[in-house]
Amino acid sequence: MELIDIHAHLDHSRFKEDLAQVIARARKAGIKTIITSGVNSSTNREILKIQEVYPDIVKVSFGIYPLDALQREIDLGEGDGFARDIEKMDVDKELEWIEKNKDKCLAIGECGLDFKYSEEKQEQITIFQKIINLAKKLNKPIIVHSRKGELEAIDLLEKSQCKKVILHCFSGRKSLIKRACDLGYYFSIPPVITRLEHFQMLVSLVPLSQILTETDSPYLSPIPGEKNEPANVQVTIKEIAKLKNIPEEEIAKSIYNNFKLIFSYR
Ligand SMILES: [Zn+2]
Repeated sequence: MELIDIHAHLDHSRFKEDLAQVIARARKAGIKTIITSGVNSSTNREILKIQEVYPDIVKVSFGIYPLDALQREIDLGEGDGFARDIEKMDVDKELEWIEKNKDKCLAIGECGLDFKYSEEKQEQITIFQKIINLAKKLNKPIIVHSRKGELEAIDLLEKSQCKKVILHCFSGRKSLIKRACDLGYYFSIPPVITRLEHFQMLVSLVPLSQILTETDSPYLSPIPGEKNEPANVQVTIKEIAKLKNIPEEEIAKSIYNNFKLIFSYR
């Protein structure tokens, strides 16, 4: 089986000690490509170094996370020991840097709207619009995380006529899932699907041709409190196969094809 993890954070401090083993386990599990996403200036540079070490399996996407983009003090709390520091960043400068380095990345993101930790809705929307514009200009897929701002995110993407959209860890309600489906957006499904009914419902609603797999490692593990890793894509494939009542091999093949299609990957 050829498996794909379209969204992980391999630069996270939780992988400092064991990244080589994590990559080895991913290879053993059949993972062909891991897209590791930056969230701010320093992680965008950090992931490039990881890609240099594992060029055959690790690809990158350059991100600007909405909370880092706000340039304010925001405390994400402890988060099971997975919390990271928010980094104040200059969005315009970073967008310029991304454009300059466009050939090194497969996608733009993680980006989006996060209204859970910030009420600065309009400012977040203005910044997200700039990122959407760049993704369109570069003709790259955009990996979107919207938290408590799912409706606003879809509105903006639709209005901007953004076509290559991947909704990562999408928590919007049924009507929004259907709307995004009709717009041709992709949904990437994390291993936490085994214990979250929401994703099981989402997979039942969305056609296989619009489904991708991700891990968001080290977050969203199938086992509470544990560190997630790319090899766990296997868990997601199993669960999707069960929900769709289609053999695992077929699910894996379709998802890998979806990946090649949206990322124009050969
Ligand atoms: Zn993420």
